[in-house]
Amino acid sequence: MCLDMSPQVYITPVGQCSNLIMKLIARMSARSKNLKRKAVENTALAVKKAKGETDLAHGLKWAQVGQELKGLCPLISLSSDSLPGRTKVVGFDIDFTVIKTASGRKFATGAKDWEWWDEMVPAKLKSLDADGYRVVFFTNQAGIEKQKTNPNDIKDKIEDIIKQLSIPVQAFICTGTNHYRKPGTLMWDYFVDNCNGGIKVDVNKSIFVGDAAGRAKAWAAEKPKDFSCSDRMFAANIGIKFYTPEEYFMSESAAPFKWGSLDAEAYLKIKPVNNKTITYHSESQEIVIMVGPPASGKSSLRKRYFEPQGYVAVNKDTMGTQAKCVKVAKEALAKGKSVVVDNTNPNKSTRKDFLDLAEKEGIPCRCFVMQTPLDVAHHLNLVRQNMTNGEVRRVPDVGYAVYNKNFETPSKCEGFLEIVNIDFTPQFDNKRHEVLFKHWTGH
Ligand SMILES: [Mg+2]
Repeated sequence: MCLDMSPQVYITPVGQCSNLIMKLIARMSARSKNLKRKAVENTALAVKKAKGETDLAHGLKWAQVGQELKGLCPLISLSSDSLPGRTKVVGFDIDFTVIKTASGRKFATGAKDWEWWDEMVPAKLKSLDADGYRVVFFTNQAGIEKQKTNPNDIKDKIEDIIKQLSIPVQAFICTGTNHYRKPGTLMWDYFVDNCNGGIKVDVNKSIFVGDAAGRAKAWAAEKPKDFSCSDRMFAANIGIKFYTPEEYFMSESAAPFKWGSLDAEAYLKIKPVNNKTITYHSESQEIVIMVGPPASGKSSLRKRYFEPQGYVAVNKDTMGTQAKCVKVAKEALAKGKSVVVDNTNPNKSTRKDFLDLAEKEGIPCRCFVMQTPLDVAHHLNLVRQNMTNGEVRRVPDVGYAVYNKNFETPSKCEGFLEIVNIDFTPQFDNKRHEVLFKHWTGH
């Protein structure tokens, strides 16, 4: 058998060849035009997005609200000046209330990873709009601050949801663990005050629906525990009716739940047991060392009883380091002033720096120990953030864990002249502070 190994040459007629080339050029030119068109469209879309504009009806537009913190706005709103306000509002949480992930994961993998929580959701929302209610989404998205969630994905998802609903929906996204976060009411207040066309909302005709409802594990067959109670608390703080998605969309009966944090209104009714007559400031020069977890009332005490009497306050939050606090204390003592150390001071070693200083200067040192229960301190931590409109950020849980881990009960043996135990007594500068104290707080 003989194989022909010579190369085979195919010759294309000249006419056919030029046709092929022409087709190729035409295809390349169309592709290039297409790419250019897409690039122009993408640029236009980017410019539009940067301005917060959307394709949604009723002129709905995204806006950043509040002062930026580390380059991030605490609140993002979707609203429109041309949308007339309504007195009846139905607020919804978004995740696992209006929608769930299509992937079945806990957190969405992207803007497209969603489906309706139940097939009856869109019809229900449309009927609410037809019945004169304003549908508003309020969502906590701390993942944005943690850089785990892309805010554009959330915006795209919300726009997608609204397009499918074909009704005007306003939306508010809290971007971190800031003062707008549910269950605080500032996100709702912002909507009512700025985005409802000047119309007062009727709290008796408005409701909120969310899945963070404090239900225990196995509240229904194979149902996990709710991760928090913040949606239920949000409604209670506003003073509107609350429903879980199961109650609202499926007409299920209410499941048992626990608030899981301090009942501040009930707490205020309990009179603090404190019959001792406390001598706060001393007429002679001294150092006062405070001991107490974050937000246990140390600064209030310092401002109320010591600073007005001329005590110089040292504080690590404002001065940065223990060394700086000791330096400032030393300088104040040299000027004949008394000093109040407003730090958590949980253990002997943190207190020793100031006790040594007092000994060196030959002046007495007293210790004021806050007896504030831990759940009250946690509550105050969040109330303080809301009272200051976010100026004082909440101390993260780790701050309490570190305090507890390091805590050593102060003793006279350390060199104190006196140990003074302080029971926390709520006192409010104004009505708003009292209202905020009475609110439910949670994570
Ligand atoms: Mg949810």
